[in-house]
Amino acid sequence: MKFEEYPISDGIKKSISKQGFKKPTDIQYKAIPNILRGEDVLAIAQTGTGKTAAFVIPILHLLHIKKTVRKSKGIKCLVMAPTHELALQIHEVFISLAKHTKVSSSCIHGGVDQDPQKEKLAEGVDVLIATPGRLFDLVSQGDVKLDKLEILVLDEADHMLDLGFIKDIQDLMRHIPPHRQTLFFSATITEKIKKLAYSLVTNPIRIQISPKDPVAKNIEHALAFIEMEDKRYFLGNMLQEHPERKTLVFVRTKVRAERLKSALDRQGVEAITIHGDKEQKQREESMQAFRKGDQKTLIATDISARGIDVPNVDFVVNYDLPDSAEQYVHRVGRTGRGREKGQALSFCATEELELLEEIDTNLGKPIARMEISKKDYQMTKNSIVEKNEDNWQKLLDAAAIEQKAYEKMKSKRRKGKK
Ligand code: ADP
Ligand code: MG
Repeated sequence: MKFEEYPISDGIKKSISKQGFKKPTDIQYKAIPNILRGEDVLAIAQTGTGKTAAFVIPILHLLHIKKTVRKSKGIKCLVMAPTHELALQIHEVFISLAKHTKVSSSCIHGGVDQDPQKEKLAEGVDVLIATPGRLFDLVSQGDVKLDKLEILVLDEADHMLDLGFIKDIQDLMRHIPPHRQTLFFSATITEKIKKLAYSLVTNPIRIQISPKDPVAKNIEHALAFIEMEDKRYFLGNMLQEHPERKTLVFVRTKVRAERLKSALDRQGVEAITIHGDKEQKQREESMQAFRKGDQKTLIATDISARGIDVPNVDFVVNYDLPDSAEQYVHRVGRTGRGREKGQALSFCATEELELLEEIDTNLGKPIARMEISKKDYQMTKNSIVEKNEDNWQKLLDAAAIEQKAYEKMKSKRRKGKK
């Protein structure tokens, strides 16, 4: 079935076609009719399979029809997402598909001034896309009113219902009318979280696409055993061999992200970083540079693992193993989006073997192992020369200080002799 044949407004069809989408993906095919009927949906489908449009298209249609019949003020749909970048990205999808409708949307997230967001809200919007922290602040201040809400969407639902966010979300539920349509979307879900999701809705329809292998089939993923202190050489070597490849590198912490960037600098390899310690503006700039391909290597913490849709990411590297199988699926899922193919490689050091065992078990089958012979391992390590600019500078400075002290001493002596 083509989008042309869908019972949705012509304006939306026009925008879908402008995006270059011809026919719906599996999850869109299955979820759109249920959402149009007003049902609660829990949709689980692999990364990069078009889950965003699977909820944006029917929501826009429902709201557009309502607005055509009668004008009513107030937020009618709330979409929640875990990170600023993801919220902005979902907003972009709403903007591009809502172009020929009467539906307006706005996005609120932390890290930036509240005032422009409040002004936009005061004008009135139909769809609000939000991260939990900022949403909660604006709800408590009375700038966001949810009493007219009809549709609630949790994107990356398992993450949104997990420990860090659940309290905010439960508190928020008190501000939302109980008779609403609730939609959950994710690539991964655990039994515990599924129960929690069901407890928030009346009669959910569960839609699951290819549940057996959580990693999308267009992603080729493997693992290599590389010790902690050697990882930077292997990464540097790969980046030097494939400078044309768009590579996303995941590390465990913000500090490790910056340290890896400096290590690559010393090898003459350019990279940029994105993590929670960076200003929002810098985060957006890094994302933009990577998106456009001006920068080929982005080092990221897990804030970029969920939902981010950057075209043509050729290669994902788990420089550090993630701490759960779910996180593994989301990280490698940044490549192989839509019809693209992608590759992922994880580095595993001796101290990470336990993590690996857990990930392998939860994935249902072990990640393919890449064999590296002892000779090749050593050769890769030796092939990298790190220029240590910092130390050179320190040595030069120290030499200059010594020279000055020597000159001073000499001149004192000369004076003494006189
Ligand atoms: P998910 O949320 O499932 O990880 P996204 O919604 O981010 O995936 O979509 C992944 C990519 O697929 C996006 O670049 C999007 O534009 C593209 N896409 C979505 N729907 C279609 C479609 N019907 N045909 C072609 N491409 C699509
Ligand atoms: Mg998504």
